[in-house]
Amino acid sequence: MFSVNALPASFGDCLWIEYGPDDAPNVILIDAGPSAPAMLKERLQQLAARGGTLELVVVTHVDADHIGGMLTLLENDFYGVPVRDVWFNGFRHLPGVETFGEKQGERLTGLLLDKRVAWNVDLNNAACMIADDNYPVIDLPGGASITLLSPDAGQLARLKRNWIRVCGEADLYADVPAVSTHYDEDGREAFGAAVPDVTRLAGETFVEDVAEANGSSIAFLIEYDNKRALCGADAFPSRLLSSLAQLYGAGPHRFALVKLPHHGSEKNVSKELVEGLDCRCYLFSTNGARYKHPSQSAVARVIQHAKRPKLIFNYRTEFNEMWDSQPLQTMYEYSVQYGDDGGVTIDLS
Ligand SMILES: [Zn+2]
Repeated sequence: MFSVNALPASFGDCLWIEYGPDDAPNVILIDAGPSAPAMLKERLQQLAARGGTLELVVVTHVDADHIGGMLTLLENDFYGVPVRDVWFNGFRHLPGVETFGEKQGERLTGLLLDKRVAWNVDLNNAACMIADDNYPVIDLPGGASITLLSPDAGQLARLKRNWIRVCGEADLYADVPAVSTHYDEDGREAFGAAVPDVTRLAGETFVEDVAEANGSSIAFLIEYDNKRALCGADAFPSRLLSSLAQLYGAGPHRFALVKLPHHGSEKNVSKELVEGLDCRCYLFSTNGARYKHPSQSAVARVIQHAKRPKLIFNYRTEFNEMWDSQPLQTMYEYSVQYGDDGGVTIDLS
């Protein structure tokens, strides 16, 4: 089997990936939402009961909607599940000039050290990043492999220069007051029953994301049994595209599933990204809280530039239900799928 489950993690990401034998699949966990979804605890307890292991836990970047729940999981020792390795770029891994001497270890780093969890072992204890002509490929137990696509050293250096502010925003320092996020609320107001103008929305000027934390996202492709899924975290589309081009030459690049970056923000889903992918299934992971994601422009770009895409939402919300329109689907040749209380599971096998 090979499946990706986008758990209901509010406005954040929490991906539970299974591959291998149906009765005892290998499990990877990517992020844990702003707070750990209740069903994640159940799943971990079930995994512990069958003697399973988390082959890999990835904390893609230091934003609250990805890292918040991870603090709870670490505090609770993953509810009894052994963890083979955690990938997370803490301050100690970041390249570039150090501009302050103290305050390196925020809460997640403290927990990783306290709990003696394996940390970036697959990366020889160095940063989880790509470098010129070096796109690490990590083989996982059970036959899956991961090829890193993001971040690069430049993005990690930017994060380093802004580390305290970015971690403060994610409430990762007990003594640094959490400030309201600096991200624009770039999602649109819901239009209710109004039918979106796909062509106009898709054609809106694209301005790429510049947020340091998003640019530092660990994004990769995971391959199992000749199927590939792109796990975009909140990465910048230009980074993903140039990594794919470096690795595989001119696109479009075939994927069975693309988890679109940054919950379908208009700043992270460009026409070029969609045109660079040969994929039928696009996952939008968010309930739209706080940032009103996905943006209608991002969804419209997928509809306009992908070939008969299936839009997969892990929630049905006022920010995505307008796409469940038969006339629109007929006109633009796309389909939709909405998750339920359990989020949404995409079977890739
Ligand atoms: Zn996010």
